[in-house]
Amino acid sequence: MDLKKYVTIVEDFPKPGISFKDITTLMDNGEAFKYATDQIVQYAREKKIDIVVGPEARGFIIGCPVAYSLGVGFAPVRKEGKLPRETIKVEYGLEYGKDALTIHKDAIKPGQRVLITDDLLATGGTIEATIKLVEQLGGEVAGIAFLIELSYLEGRKRLEGYDILALIKY
Ligand code: IMP
Repeated sequence: MDLKKYVTIVEDFPKPGISFKDITTLMDNGEAFKYATDQIVQYAREKKIDIVVGPEARGFIIGCPVAYSLGVGFAPVRKEGKLPRETIKVEYGLEYGKDALTIHKDAIKPGQRVLITDDLLATGGTIEATIKLVEQLGGEVAGIAFLIELSYLEGRKRLEGYDILALIKY
């Protein structure tokens, strides 16, 4: 299936000059969403995943059906102040300023093989921070899966040494 035709390009969103990849038109198509999910499930099986981890919010949309299908757990990575119990935190640079991602301290058991999911790989900053959280808890990042990779932003370079699956490339 050619998944690319289900992605809608929205020019100048959220600001002038940005060519936004809107995945909602892939998600709201049952066949396309199932096909994409099944590809990631197959990849996760090969990597012998114990748990799926995804950053809010679209990392949840991609990761949760994969976890359900595999019968493994899902651990959310969230912006600071959103998770109710004890967390660890990693700060990461944004275009303007800084942001922080957190995960519950007991979300991953040492040695667990983790699949990280998100909708889109741009510069790789979000996933780099997510990797740090997983590794600080003793998890092993066995694979990282995206619907979309913006190859021209070279996020893959930043994630060198990790195994990456991207279903759609621009
Ligand atoms: P990165 O940290 O620069 O790799 O940015 C990736 C994050 O930004 C992901 O969590 C995406 O949800 C979001 N993002 C960046 N560009 C787009 C886009 O064109 N469409 C949808 N999400 C995007």
